[in-house]
Amino acid sequence: MPSYRITLLPGDGIGPEITAVARSLLEAVGPHHGISFDVCEAPVGGAGHDAEGDPLPTETLKRCRDADAVLLAAIGGYEYDNLPQRQRPESGLLRLRAGMDLFANLRPVRILPVLVEASSLKRSLIEAVDLVVVRELTGGIYFGEPRGRITTPAGERGFNTMTYSDQEVDRIAAVGFRLAAERAGRLCSVDKANVLEVSQLWRERVNTMAAAHPDVAVSHMYVDNAAMQLLRNPRQFDVLLTGNLFGDILSDAAAMLSGSIGMLPSASLGSDGPGLFEPIHGSAPDIAGKDLANPLAMVLSAAMMLRVGLGQEEAATDLERAVEQVLLAGFRTADLMAEGCTQLGCKAMGEQLLVALEGVWQA
Ligand code: NAD
Repeated sequence: MPSYRITLLPGDGIGPEITAVARSLLEAVGPHHGISFDVCEAPVGGAGHDAEGDPLPTETLKRCRDADAVLLAAIGGYEYDNLPQRQRPESGLLRLRAGMDLFANLRPVRILPVLVEASSLKRSLIEAVDLVVVRELTGGIYFGEPRGRITTPAGERGFNTMTYSDQEVDRIAAVGFRLAAERAGRLCSVDKANVLEVSQLWRERVNTMAAAHPDVAVSHMYVDNAAMQLLRNPRQFDVLLTGNLFGDILSDAAAMLSGSIGMLPSASLGSDGPGLFEPIHGSAPDIAGKDLANPLAMVLSAAMMLRVGLGQEEAATDLERAVEQVLLAGFRTADLMAEGCTQLGCKAMGEQLLVALEGVWQA
């Protein structure tokens, strides 16, 4: 029986609520496929700060590195907003990604037919959208040096540096090309090469790699146009490849195509070692503790962990089918509520998912 070490990071806000749902589903789906999970929970973000005075306690990072896969809910909360930069929850997450060398972030956006009406775009634009944003995660302007704030005779100045080396571009581009070859074979690289030297290098490296991938049709798009095209005609995209800052913004815009930020999973991967799987949303402190959270992105992140991180395709598909079934049955959390549907809290949605999973096995 395959056994996997999973490090579970509930984090902050709605994190513990959605983690409980994902954990119950993993515990149900594992035995059905002859898989066992050795699950250990560890504090990160605000929870890490509260427990150890550090948003990424040393022991948490060790447990993540030693695991077969890591499943994270979300970090952050208003009460931590005034802490010094290094003690803030977001800094723990950035250090976790860097500490696990997770340089590639994959955000699939697939519109479930049952949720087409939840999108703010017209049905004709949104139907059959199926794209993945591949975002570079450990370089670019979020990590570039020099950075800081200085006082000059003319006043205060803040500055950051957007920088990529050829190796950094090559390794993320390789992920994009591999994924495009497995999918519809179209890769759109997004940059700002009309203005930024760092983007000119990015574009050159992507073109060099394109020559070795005749199976992938490569195009380039400036980031401002890409933002517009995502809203104008999202079906044109298969794989969108981009850097850290542009990817941060475009992947949230792409996420909203699905109607709710509470529906989308993501994977962060390195060259080897465990991957980190997490919903794209944050800790939603405005609804934390109110049993209002949508746990579906977390469950879909667990499914992505099973498929991409552990190679357990059938178990992953079961979780995805359970999600589709609860939606088809008309159950919705508040963020997705529509006329004629039944509104459930996070916990009750978890219970319905377990019922739906049984249904998937009996079908
Ligand atoms: P957010 O994603 O937490 O919330 C944005 C809006 O979406 C809120 O109205 C929230 O209630 C709603 N929402 C988010 N997830 C939901 C879910 N599963 N179900 C129902 N509604 C949901 O973003 P924010 O408000 O900008 O940030 C809140 C905190 O989260 C901040 O501290 C931020 O730093 C942190 N954050 C963490 C991550 C992460 O852990 N990867 C990502 C983004 C933001």
